This record gives sequence, structure tokens and C-alpha cells, in this order.
Amino acid sequence: MKTFDAIIVGAGQAGPSLAGRFAGAGMTVALIERKFVGGTCVNAGCMPTKTLVASARTAHVIRRGADYGIHTNGGLLTDMAAVEKRAATVINNARNSLTTWLTSTDGISLIRGHARFESEKTIRVGDEMLTAPRIFLNVGARPAIPAFPGLSDIEYLTSTSIIHLTALPRHLAIIGGGYIGLEFAQMYRRFGTEVSIIEHGPHLAPREDDDICQAIGDVLSAEGIAIHTNAQDIRLSKRGENIRISTANGNPEVEASHLLIATGRRPNTDDLGLENAGVALDGKGYIVVDDHLSTNVDGIWALGDCNGHGAFTHTSYNDFEIVAANLLDGEDRKLSERIPAYALYIDPPLGRVGMTEKEARAKGRSVSTSTMPMSRVGRAVEKGETQGLMKVVADVETGQILGAAILGVEGDEAIHGFIDAMHARTPYPVLKWAVPIHPTVSELIPTLLGGLKSS
Ligand SMILES: Cc1cc2nc3c(=O)[nH]c(=O)nc-3n(C[C@H](O)[C@H](O)[C@H](O)COP(=O)(O)OP(=O)(O)OC[C@H]3O[C@@H](n4cnc5c(N)ncnc54)[C@H](O)[C@@H]3O)c2cc1C
Repeated sequence: MKTFDAIIVGAGQAGPSLAGRFAGAGMTVALIERKFVGGTCVNAGCMPTKTLVASARTAHVIRRGADYGIHTNGGLLTDMAAVEKRAATVINNARNSLTTWLTSTDGISLIRGHARFESEKTIRVGDEMLTAPRIFLNVGARPAIPAFPGLSDIEYLTSTSIIHLTALPRHLAIIGGGYIGLEFAQMYRRFGTEVSIIEHGPHLAPREDDDICQAIGDVLSAEGIAIHTNAQDIRLSKRGENIRISTANGNPEVEASHLLIATGRRPNTDDLGLENAGVALDGKGYIVVDDHLSTNVDGIWALGDCNGHGAFTHTSYNDFEIVAANLLDGEDRKLSERIPAYALYIDPPLGRVGMTEKEARAKGRSVSTSTMPMSRVGRAVEKGETQGLMKVVADVETGQILGAAILGVEGDEAIHGFIDAMHARTPYPVLKWAVPIHPTVSELIPTLLGGLKSS
């Protein structure tokens, strides 16, 4: 049995930083990873997808060259092998530099293998048994694949395997109109593939307000992506070399050369031996945690996607910050203090923070809203990228901003004006007097706030 001051399972977005803080405080730490250091973000999530999105945007800008008075002589060719290689280089560089840091930091033992609880304080990795008074779970999530009829007869892609394609599909069908599905849809369309999205709900990006969903749909249809919503009872079958996707509700059949299933993610908690430690899960398999990220078992914490309180790199990293601040810095940081924020990396991107209008109304808040098209933004006009809209939701009684969305050029950056104001709890009338830089996307924010009206 090997004894450590702390054991961390999973080298995702919280584990390595937590290991570094503990080691810096003079503790011995075992960091266990069964696959790749860096977890989903580095190896199969944010980094590869945003690298691929950058290649896709380049193709899009080249196609639009004539709109800006720039002509290319000859056609456009996507070299998918080179596109994939670029993403692989970004992955490998990030993974290697993290591995070098972890293996060269005194106090951290990076242990390769699958971790499984034997008891509350004991974890097995292969033939080795490890124990520590504190155990931190950062095991992440993986693609969830529903049991569609016919699934076993066909080959399909997930968000992990599609990253490694080195040849362009002729026709990519995507089941799932959520964030991951939409990013791959636009990316592959821009690479030159025919793309069809099959979504069982009435809208793409179904968590957003209807005006935002509609605008996202408009952006994607304008690029020639076929969108099939309300697609119930999905059935899959093989037709020659192709995959046939049929649905109820009168949607046409889609016959595609490739199929990506992007129907959400499930936590990696089913093979961790949690029952041997008595750690409680919710109905969807997420580890139940309190406001300090402690599980129901003393001395066991859960951080990142596996606790169901975030599905992003920044939320997992913030879980690390909360735990480290509370255990090492004598602070009292809480999960409930975090304001949800995220981006959807289609182009133009959607930056989001806080509540949607429908969430605010469902919570019974006295809501005022203001919406403006991106065509009102001078910088967007100058860049020739006026698609989308900005929206803010505020509380009439308190003057607090409840949420905001910027679907538009630089939306993922400009939303930070709202993130910071909400974090500082600055009432919106104060922001109306801020003097933004011209010409920027953020420049419209005071005007947007000036338009807040109760409805
Ligand atoms: C296609 C895609 C695009 C994304 N884009 C973005 C984005 O743009 N921005 C954003 O913020 N988020 C994005 N995400 C989400 C983001 O990647 C995840 O939310 C984030 O990586 C979660 O971090 P984590 O620390 O919870 O777990 P992970 O990063 O998933 O790490 C968990 C680690 O635990 C290991 N592990 C699991 N079980 C065991 C075990 N029993 N023993 C040992 N090791 C184990 C796994 O191998 C893994 O390395 C994207 C995700 C996907 C799939």
C-alpha cells in the first residue's frame, strides 16, 4: 500500500492544477490518469475543435474574398489530412508540456492506469493499492450514445473520433443540434461537406431563448446546412455504403456517407467503484456534491463535469479554485457564487452569461429586456459580418443584469463586459455611462442597456 497526502483521479482541467497547489504546499500527491493527460479539453474538446474551427473559418473567409475586393485565382481545396495534422500538433504540444510539468514537479506522482475505489480511503490502479486521507475525483464525461434502433448495424462517429478524420466526408449527418453538434456542422460545411442536422426538439441550441435559436438557425441555413427539427423516433440503417436516418413527424429521410452522434455527454462514474466508498450519485450518474464540492463521504470531493454543475473547462478549473482556496488559503468559496457563462463556437460565436429571458420569467423575476441586431454595430458593418443580435435581460426592481447573449462577431469576447459587471453586481444604469472604445462590438452595450423595457 502506498500512502499519499492526497489522491486525485483524473488529469483533466482541475486535477493537475490541484496537484500543483498541493505539491507547492509540501504535500505528496498521486495523480492518476487512465488515458491522456489534459483530459477532454486538450485531447478531444476545446483545443482540437477550436483549432479546426480556425481552419474552417479560413476557408469561409477565402470564399468570401470577392466581397472584400480580394480575388483568388483558382478554386479552394480542403486538405483534410493537413487540417487534422494541425489539430494533432496543438493537442500534442499541450499534452506534452503538461506532462513535462507534472513529471518534473516535486511531490507529484503521475500514475498511469484506471483508478477504482476498494474502500472509502483506498484506490486500486492495476496491482497497486493507494491510500490518502483526501481523495479528489476529476473524472470528466464521455459522449452519450442513445440506443437508436439499427445502431449496431452501422458505423458512427463521436465528437472524439471525428477529430481524427483525415479525409473529407461527402455528406455528414449529425444527430443532435446542441453546442457540439453545431460546431462540427458549420466546420464541416465550410470544409466542403454536405451537412444535415437532425434535432429531436423544435429548435437548435434548445436551451437558448427563441430569438437566439432562430438566429443561430438562420446563420447555419444561410451556409447551406440542412436542418431537420422535431425529428422523433430516429432509426438507422445501412443502404449500400451509406447510412440512412429516418424519423417520424414527416421529416424526409437523410442518406449520408458519415454520421456523427452528438446527443450529449455522460459522467465517467460507472466504472470507478464508487459503491465501495459509498459515494452518492444522482439519477443521471453525476456525483452529488455540496456547495464546497464535498461528496456525502468525508474526505472525498468531486470536481468538473462529473459533478453535473458545469460542462466546461472554465467551470472545472473554477472547481479547482474553490477547493484550493478553501483547503489551502482559509477562504470560504462556494459553487453557488459562480455565474454560469459559456460560448458556442459557431461563426459568428454566441457568448452567454446568466439567465435566458425564459429562465428569468420562469423564476418569477420582474424582467426587462433589450435586443439589438448586430447590423447596429459599426465594427460589424466594417468587417462585413452583421449576422446575429445582442440581448440583455435585467431585473426591473433591483437594476441588476440577470443575463445576456451576444450572437455576433467577437461575441465570445464582448460578453465579458457583462460577465464582469454581473460578477461585481454593478446595476445596469451605472454601465450606461461607461465610455466604450470606438469602433468595437462592446460599443453598443450602453445603447443596448438604454433600450431596456419591461414587457
Ligand atoms: C467536442 C467538444 C468541444 C468542447 N469545447 C469546449 C469549449 O470550447 N469550451 C469549454 O469550456 N468546454 C468545452 N468542452 C467541454 C470541456 O472539454 C469539458 O467540460 C472539460 O474538459 C471537463 O473537464 P474535467 O476536468 O471535468 O474532465 P476531463 O477534461 O474530461 O478529464 C477527466 C480525466 O479523467 C480521466 N479518468 C476518467 N475516469 C478515470 C479513472 N477511473 N481512472 C483514471 N482516470 C480517469 C479521463 O481519462 C480524463 O483524462 C468541449 C467538449 C467537447 C467534447
